Amino acid sequence: VKVLLTGGSGFIAAHIVDILLQHGFDTVVTVRSEEKGKRIIEAHPGVSKEKLSYVIVQDVAKDGAFDEAVKSNPPFDYVLHTASPFHFNVQDPVKDFLDPAIKGTTGILKAIKEYAPTVKRVVITSSFAAIVNGKQHPKVYSEKEWNPLTWEEAMDHSSVYRGSKTFAEKAAWTFVEKEKPNFDLATINPPLVFGPIVHYLNSLEAINTSNQRLRNIVQGEMKEKLAPTGNFLWVDVRDVALAHVRAIEVPEAGGERFFVTAGFFSNKELADIARETHPQLESKLPPADAPSDFPEHIYEIDNTKSQKVLGLEYRPLKQTVSDAIDSILAVGI
Ligand code: NDP
Repeated sequence: VKVLLTGGSGFIAAHIVDILLQHGFDTVVTVRSEEKGKRIIEAHPGVSKEKLSYVIVQDVAKDGAFDEAVKSNPPFDYVLHTASPFHFNVQDPVKDFLDPAIKGTTGILKAIKEYAPTVKRVVITSSFAAIVNGKQHPKVYSEKEWNPLTWEEAMDHSSVYRGSKTFAEKAAWTFVEKEKPNFDLATINPPLVFGPIVHYLNSLEAINTSNQRLRNIVQGEMKEKLAPTGNFLWVDVRDVALAHVRAIEVPEAGGERFFVTAGFFSNKELADIARETHPQLESKLPPADAPSDFPEHIYEIDNTKSQKVLGLEYRPLKQTVSDAIDSILAVGI
């Protein structure tokens, strides 16, 4: 059974590759350069090229970007689409975020419909960003909620990432509804993803966006003052990766979105866990009695669908943070 995974050089995708291989799938990743492709292959010695290979898709926003990548022999059974910009370096909201997110998503769906009729299901990495309502939190967040952000509001640099994920996911559901392709769709909607970084892809300067606050804590940047937590929901990268693979393995996952979260955290908790699991970092950490910004009345979450349908069992924060710090220390601080 063969899977195409886009954005293979990404933080989450690197973990998806490992789970796909463990579960016996033949995997082809898309990457933006030969160099990144080679690094992924070299990091998996002993894995045959039938089991793991790469194709180049330089820019998902380009018309027809995926037309060649989706053709394969033997042909693909499933596609996992993770490639999408996630950073806060906004120059041009449309060119940097909305185009690659939305055109990347509709582009791959069009290419599959036209050139890869054997594909049975497409799983898209959406986000809690496509669920959260920044103006008015509901009492309980679940996959029933949609971010009501408008296109105009998304031009604001602080909202454009959320807009990119919301509009891309909506475009995907609309495509399937209107075009009635051979495949069905599932989306994985995680909040902030923490966990071990993959050494062959990362330097600490270029660490993926969601692990930056852990790097900052470990490097002493929050020693004097804990940065405000801002987003209070998290999930382990390995659980997110497993959710993607389960979403192709479990027939009932078709047509569903999945809110995958382990629960709440604050920067103060991250620092406290670091102190407990890595006492050698004490001199870099904020004092144990630093106040937490965790709000008293926030919202509730309902992640039961991900547990029931995908069989996820969420890792606890302590394990995730400890493993992530180990991986950061292995790269060197
Ligand atoms: P990364 O930045 O590590 O991965 C993003 C991937 O997308 C990279 O492989 C990147 O390639 C690729 N990419 C970005 N823009 C383009 C483009 N224009 N053309 C081709 N490839 C592109 O982030 P994550 O692993 O964290 O993110 C993966 C997915 O998960 C994204 O869709 C993101 O929105 C989503 N997500 C992430 C969360 C998190 O907290 N990490 C939370 C919720 C959702 P390259 O590295 O070569 O630029």
